[in-house]
Amino acid sequence: GKGQGTRGGGKGDAFVTAITSQGEDYSRWYLDVVLRAELADYTPGLKGCMTIRPYGYAIWERIQQLLDARLKATGHVNAYFPLFIPESLLMKEAEHVEGFAPEVAWVTHGGKEKLEERLAIRPTSEVIIGTMYAKWLQSWRDLPILINQWANIVRWEKVTRPFLRTTEFLWQEGHTVHETEPEAEEETLKILGVYKEFVETELAMPVIEGRKSDAEKFAGAAKTYSIEALMGDGRALQAGTSHNLGQNFAKAFEIKFQGRDKVEQHAWTTSWGVSTRLIGGLIMVHGDDSGLVLPPNIAPYQVVIVPIPRGDWRETVLPHAQAIKEQLVAAGVRVMLDDRDAYTPGWKFAEWEMRGVPVRLEIGPKDIEKQQVVLARRDTREKQFVPMDGLSVYVQGWLTDIQATLLARATQVREERTHYTESYDEFKTLMAGARPGFVYAPWCDDADVEARVKTETQATIRNYPFVAPSAEGKTCFVTGRPATVMACFAKAY
Ligand code: AMP
Repeated sequence: GKGQGTRGGGKGDAFVTAITSQGEDYSRWYLDVVLRAELADYTPGLKGCMTIRPYGYAIWERIQQLLDARLKATGHVNAYFPLFIPESLLMKEAEHVEGFAPEVAWVTHGGKEKLEERLAIRPTSEVIIGTMYAKWLQSWRDLPILINQWANIVRWEKVTRPFLRTTEFLWQEGHTVHETEPEAEEETLKILGVYKEFVETELAMPVIEGRKSDAEKFAGAAKTYSIEALMGDGRALQAGTSHNLGQNFAKAFEIKFQGRDKVEQHAWTTSWGVSTRLIGGLIMVHGDDSGLVLPPNIAPYQVVIVPIPRGDWRETVLPHAQAIKEQLVAAGVRVMLDDRDAYTPGWKFAEWEMRGVPVRLEIGPKDIEKQQVVLARRDTREKQFVPMDGLSVYVQGWLTDIQATLLARATQVREERTHYTESYDEFKTLMAGARPGFVYAPWCDDADVEARVKTETQATIRNYPFVAPSAEGKTCFVTGRPATVMACFAKAY
């Protein structure tokens, strides 16, 4: 059936099952891509828990490598903290508990024995990490503490979708401690900038940086900042968050130090994270009706070589394909040589298109005679004969160009779907549209009105963008009261 990802059978069987088109049913299209490109799969008996398959995990590994390098370059180090949080510790920060209580999974037994104290499975690690920081921190000389952890997280989500919102997910969470409030704020914003640069440069996904409204901020944070991306169906995705926790957690967990003035004081902390949700964003920002489209920087394979089998091709064509692979690998290109006998070239073309490989390289007997290959771009579907001589430089040029093209294309789509309004009626019409997008509007910053807008239109405040028209002298588009800030609204995942 449709979207089941039936593989072609034996030799000569060139049929690849089509996926649902975006226009027909966008969420079905998304699930078809996830399953058919073999990124992830549902796990029998475990609602909301996905198995990340090797190809999906390879994308996560690229994300890890590229982001980890940036976190190290900004002075952070990695560590690992326990998965469990004793109930009594979790209860210490009131807002945090209240915010996370509905999503916490509990361990009540060890073997047959009932535990004296229940253990929460981390829905985030402020509590356990804060407890350790309180143990380690003594003097202002120990600051700042800049630690990151790559880990799994469990949140008992009601509605789940592969990558976008799962019960268990993978992420990195940074947790830092500072001597002063301004330093904590500087760190919070620095990381937001790292996220933006990382996501735009490597994932080719343009994002809007801004501050969250009080209603949308992290439970227990003083201020939450986010980066928000726009998906192909005009809905927004929160792609990363950075929290200035003020002294809330320092007070709850007694993260204290002796200051330069010899007086004991509470520290200032931050936390920030991005998750496997980013892979969902990649799919929806760049994908098309033939499947995934991966930006070269994040693609597990940047080039797939498909030899054209004629006659005794294993003796005639394959050695050339292998030599080309070696040449490209030596130039730093990630290459897959698909020399499987059991599949036809046509089947392989469709398969690697589905999996979003940026460049396909075809080579057959005629090409070898002419000392050339065929290159095909996944993003524009452009095809070209290219001489073997100087091939790797040519390929690298294509990869750079594809990366830039994907960012430019996504930015253009976002601009086309970004609106400004001062009228609630127009706002409602925009949000009721097929691909609603971002709507900027002058705003009175009132949580009750925010809740009303959500009920009436399903739109939420994504953030108060750093770059936006001024709200000065404007009136709130809903209430007509004086506007205090420009808000960016969208229907969100
Ligand atoms: P938070 O700790 O809530 O600020 O979330 C940190 C990051 O994890 C954000 O980028 C969220 O969008 C992402 N995230 C939160 N919940 C989930 C989930 N259930 N599945 C995948 N990613 C999530």
